[in-house]
Amino acid sequence: MKSHNAMKTECPHGHPYSVENTYRTKLGKRMCRACARHRQRRRTAARRLSEAEDRRIRQEMRRKKVRHRLNHSRRAGEGRARA
Ligand SMILES: [Zn+2]
Repeated sequence: MKSHNAMKTECPHGHPYSVENTYRTKLGKRMCRACARHRQRRRTAARRLSEAEDRRIRQEMRRKKVRHRLNHSRRAGEGRARA
């Protein structure tokens, strides 16, 4: 039970705990490089995704605002809105 962790030869995802695939955190915890890489990639992908989502939402908002403005200007008799 004491050094249970140290006995493991694979990370929870089945990557080997080899010298090249292992690094230690500041706390001395053994970490799997392959998993760290995967995590990093997932995080980057997620960020990219949310940025795209952000853009879409902002675009949608802009569109709504323009429509809103058009309605208002029509009511106010201004007629022409900048295209
Ligand atoms: Zn791993």
